[in-house]
Amino acid sequence: MKTSAVPGFYKKPLAERLALLKEFADLTDEEVETLSQTGALPEDLVDRMIENVVGTMPLPLGMALNFLINDREYIVPMAIEEPSVVAAASNAAKMARESGGFTTNSTDPIMIGQIQLVGVAHPNAARMTILEHKPAILEKANEQDPTLVKFGGGAKDLEVRVLHTARGPMVITHLLVDCRDAMGANAVNTMAEAVAPMLERLTGGRVYLRIISNLAKYRLARARAVFSADAIGGDEVVEGILEAYHFAAADPYRCATHNKGIMNGIDAVVIATGNDWRAIEAGAHAYAARSGHYSPLTTWERDEEGNLVGTIEVPLAVGLVGGATATHPTAKANVKLLGVKTAQELAQIIASVGLAQNFAALRALATEGIQRGHMSLHARNIAVMAGATVEEVDRVVERLLAAKVVRVDKAQEILEEIRGKG
Ligand code: NAD
Repeated sequence: MKTSAVPGFYKKPLAERLALLKEFADLTDEEVETLSQTGALPEDLVDRMIENVVGTMPLPLGMALNFLINDREYIVPMAIEEPSVVAAASNAAKMARESGGFTTNSTDPIMIGQIQLVGVAHPNAARMTILEHKPAILEKANEQDPTLVKFGGGAKDLEVRVLHTARGPMVITHLLVDCRDAMGANAVNTMAEAVAPMLERLTGGRVYLRIISNLAKYRLARARAVFSADAIGGDEVVEGILEAYHFAAADPYRCATHNKGIMNGIDAVVIATGNDWRAIEAGAHAYAARSGHYSPLTTWERDEEGNLVGTIEVPLAVGLVGGATATHPTAKANVKLLGVKTAQELAQIIASVGLAQNFAALRALATEGIQRGHMSLHARNIAVMAGATVEEVDRVVERLLAAKVVRVDKAQEILEEIRGKG
């Protein structure tokens, strides 16, 4: 009988793991070959990056052009499977550069490490005791990472909150750690674990969780851009974008999609640079909901000259060292392409791409609708799904678009006709 319980799978050589899968799912030799591709990642590296590896999952890597950020030119790598995103970012950046491009800034790269204390008899007094011992706690944390401290980072401050929960009060300590050019999860978790026994001794409580928070509200990247009304299609377009923005600001159903459009751009650069996009996603949406009302990560206003002004503020815990950023050869090449020297600079570029992406989506929605731009690329995917060969794709796409029906069954029908004629 087939079983998914395979003891020692991780110890087997890659070829044996693949043979097992072939047997398990009755894969063809071609399918096994596809799974086994490791692309730019040497086999031994990919086997060390995660567990139970059999191959890699390639994504298209495209380049967003036209980005002028703080008067510097950037070509921005984006790894994403969704059509239109790279074109939209490039197009938005082109319109923004007519009025000077993007202006950015950021906070210091401060992450929060949480330490959860329960069973504390006097939680408010315990809070004070912890704060009174701040220098010793920070010193203990910083002993864990002399490298980070050497680069100007390290534990800088403490916050202590008394949290009222269904299981009683908890004392939650936040270790505020400047992570410099690291995303910081490992660094912060190590520090949180190291100071936990000290907090137990000080308060008589018991520590359970010691882990970074992805709500990186002290690690914000910001960008601003002006889009001249003339460059984007006139007053009507400005009006349409403002209507779309205020819809998102008032309605979480629309806002989820508004922010999804922003994340199209943000995630693609985060992935291309080997960063942890789950961390970025979690942080972005938690930040968007921080007031209790899920809100847009961008703002849109009209200035005195009638031009559209957009801003974005988003937590961006990205690094240039640590995790996959320093081991993935494609990520390293992409970072070199960007020419960034600090994680903060990378975060500011990413914020600019998020703003550009949001502008492009709102402009399309407020004018011709999103589908027109999407359709021709979508039609290509549909044609391929229907089984069109490289030679057949263009003809199928053309006919799908002419028929204004972009569905697999229609593509199959067209293919049959084409092949019948051939
Ligand atoms: P890391 O520990 O691999 O690297 C960071 C270390 O690099 C620092 O602690 C420091 O000692 C050193 N360093 C060298 N030069 C530096 C510089 N210029 N600036 C800063 N540090 C420098 O990685 P990390 O960034 O601590 O952790 C990132 C990894 O943690 C990612 O792979 C992420 O996916 C993973 N992770 C995330 C979560 C989460 O988000 N909740 C939880 C656990 C793990």
